[in-house]
Amino acid sequence: MSIERHVKPHIRKLEPYAPGKPIEELERELGLSGSIKLASNESPLGPSPKALAALRKEIANIHRYPDGASFALRRKLAARLGVAGEQLVFGAGADEVLELLAKVLLGPGDECVYAWPSFAMYPVVVGGMGANAVPVPLDRDLVHDLPAMAAAVNARTRLVIVCNPNNPTGTSVGTAAFDSFVESLPDDVVLAVDEAYADFARRKDFPDSLAWVRRRPSTIVLRTFSKGAGLAGLRIGYGVAGEELAGYLQRARHPFNVNRLAEVAAFAALDDTEYVERLTRLNVSGVDYLSRELRALGVEVWPSDANFVLARAGAGVYEKLLHEGVIVRPLDGFGMPDHIRISVGLPEDNERLVKSLRRIREGAR
Ligand SMILES: *Cc1c(COP(=O)(O)O)cnc(C)c1O
Repeated sequence: MSIERHVKPHIRKLEPYAPGKPIEELERELGLSGSIKLASNESPLGPSPKALAALRKEIANIHRYPDGASFALRRKLAARLGVAGEQLVFGAGADEVLELLAKVLLGPGDECVYAWPSFAMYPVVVGGMGANAVPVPLDRDLVHDLPAMAAAVNARTRLVIVCNPNNPTGTSVGTAAFDSFVESLPDDVVLAVDEAYADFARRKDFPDSLAWVRRRPSTIVLRTFSKGAGLAGLRIGYGVAGEELAGYLQRARHPFNVNRLAEVAAFAALDDTEYVERLTRLNVSGVDYLSRELRALGVEVWPSDANFVLARAGAGVYEKLLHEGVIVRPLDGFGMPDHIRISVGLPEDNERLVKSLRRIREGAR
């Protein structure tokens, strides 16, 4: 007998998160080999070598529980960011910190304001608590419409999320717009600034969100080791918040939510500035290459401060690229069937994507 009638109505309504198609699945389905995946914003350089070396040493200790307080990592990261250790909350990816925020702040009748299209986890964590999502459309340049978001805040609003740079568009907001937005928010509405891609942001006036955490303690900045440190598979991210907010998130988390290997890898990755520099350099040239080549093919591309580009490649191009052995991210789920999101790969991967796209567009003429 089905348990459906016992499942919470807000859980029944959730749309499962659709991850990028795994290479193995594509090759099994289409009988291909040598495919590439430019779909999940993963590091094309592999993991940070310093993190890898630390992992090799730690593997013999996995019979032990992790340090539930992440003591060493906390001390090092706090010093790096110039904040108190008590302001940091670690999670199994920044995803888990988002989930903790929802658990602490949201219930039926509460509202969470975020831009849309944006990170696909926002509706999942908000809906998962039975709270109401208030998605505010991006402006015509596909940038956060911060004045419209400010206008959407009301007495029921408990959480506002700004994804900067934004996934899946790559667009970002600058200091002036960000600062006046934050100034307009009531002090007791929690603001989460999702900076998963901050390592890649190039604009000179990128907002100083940590300064806002100091000035406005109901602010939390979310960051991750998944993108800039190449540790997506280990699951570790963190939030930096005022101490009161961080304290509530700490109470709500599981004692061993961050695993032992993730802790030591993140600790080592903090010292791997060479890796981050190599990765960001590769990313800059990859974003520029893809933007230039796609525009030359007549494909509209948005300016990107992240490690991917948004391209209006046309309907059906996602499937056609699959047949070429190239996996990108389709955006139908965002109501953007003409668009795809392309993660920056190694130069040869980017070239292959461009060649495939050229073939597809010539075939379509
Ligand atoms: C990737 C991503 C995250 C979190 O990633 P984790 O792997 O859970 O740390 C958060 N926000 C955005 C916008 C992302 O793209």
